[in-house]
Amino acid sequence: MDLIEQRILDIIDRHREEILSFAKDIEQHPEPGFEEMRTAEKAAEFLSSLGYEVQSGLARTGVRGDWIKKEGPNVTIIGEMDAIGCRTHPKADPENGTAHACGHHAQLAAMIGASLALADEDVRASLSGSVSFFSVPAEEYIDAGKRERLKKEGIVFTGSGKSELIRLGAFDRTNLVMTTHVHMVPVKEDFYLGNPACNGFTAEKVIVRGKAAHAAIDPWNGVNALSITTSAIQMMGLMRETFREEDHARLHNVIRKAGDVLNSVPDEAVVETKVRASSLKRIEEIRDMVDRAYDGAAYAFGGTVEREVLQGYMPILPRKADRVMVEAMQDLKNWIQKKSDQNTSGDLSWREVQEGDFNNACTDVGDLSHLFPVLNFTFSGFEGKLHGADFRIVDEEKAYILPAMLLALTTYKLLKNGASEAKKIIEDFHPVFDRESYVRYVQEHHSYSHIDGKES
Ligand SMILES: [Zn+2]
Repeated sequence: MDLIEQRILDIIDRHREEILSFAKDIEQHPEPGFEEMRTAEKAAEFLSSLGYEVQSGLARTGVRGDWIKKEGPNVTIIGEMDAIGCRTHPKADPENGTAHACGHHAQLAAMIGASLALADEDVRASLSGSVSFFSVPAEEYIDAGKRERLKKEGIVFTGSGKSELIRLGAFDRTNLVMTTHVHMVPVKEDFYLGNPACNGFTAEKVIVRGKAAHAAIDPWNGVNALSITTSAIQMMGLMRETFREEDHARLHNVIRKAGDVLNSVPDEAVVETKVRASSLKRIEEIRDMVDRAYDGAAYAFGGTVEREVLQGYMPILPRKADRVMVEAMQDLKNWIQKKSDQNTSGDLSWREVQEGDFNNACTDVGDLSHLFPVLNFTFSGFEGKLHGADFRIVDEEKAYILPAMLLALTTYKLLKNGASEAKKIIEDFHPVFDRESYVRYVQEHHSYSHIDGKES
């Protein structure tokens, strides 16, 4: 460990109370996606106070704090701001019904902790590149009703915060991204280094139209929208046998409406259908199958189908733990061991992403991974289920402080010595999209306004 690395750890260690109180403040004021006004204000305040050049109101609530040098690559550290709807959580906001049951407040704490260390003059003097801290809105799934409202309010890619930020060009100065999260797959160790493959998804809202008639007097004059819907869902069930294990496909439905009164043949049903799979191609293929099921059922009964495609998240393109991150982890372990000679703090464990590791959940970090190298780790320090009422942080050191240290140390290692490590990673990375082609892809494949009525 060099002197700067030592200094980074000391700075974060000295500011631990500030980081903890920031984490708790955010936790106590959970806000839903694209509505993280207070959270954004707190992040902006903190980053401004350290002298970062702050831009607020990106995709409504996004806050980007930059320290930009003209030369060298830019490393952007992400902190997600939104909380998840979970009314039964003891720390849920009684009005908006959300709680930090996905640990995003811990991510933000880690991000601002890292920003403290990287604002230090000696640390900065040793960097051959720029650092940015980006508090981003809306990582959690946004349902169809809310998307409609957001669209009216001027959000174009209503599927997720990162997607809208990419569209707006808010990542144009970024060359390399660092993300973190509480563990999303079962991991016994304190840290899990790297970005495992993960599913992407697409969704659609389907309106099935039939024809109302009296359910007893003349049902033969009706077209039953509920029958069309259940037939389509049954077909999807039978189609599941064509899913391959390696595709990690998941297909699920929620029926939002299925007729009005029991005495009438249901003339309208509304369904939301979600397709998850491990590649963009497979997602599209399965969505075509779903569409055929709806169209086929509508044809059989003589009804019609309208659909709105709801933009999803892209799968994560997996990335093994980079050497810089593993070295940073080792430094952190040594530092803790040295410290624990003085007090009784414990040991540190980690493991690296292995070939075949897979996360069945989805995140819009997947979209970023199609444009940038995304260096990621997840951390422990919590118990209970993600998104569950029993989720809570039980180890502040592991959930807030150590992740901040790991982010800052890794960033330093990327940008020291002429930023040689960052440059190598960027050079070796082959992006699937740039901003323009990304926007085009989303518009073509996941556009919200795409409505496909079919007369049969
Ligand atoms: Zn999350």
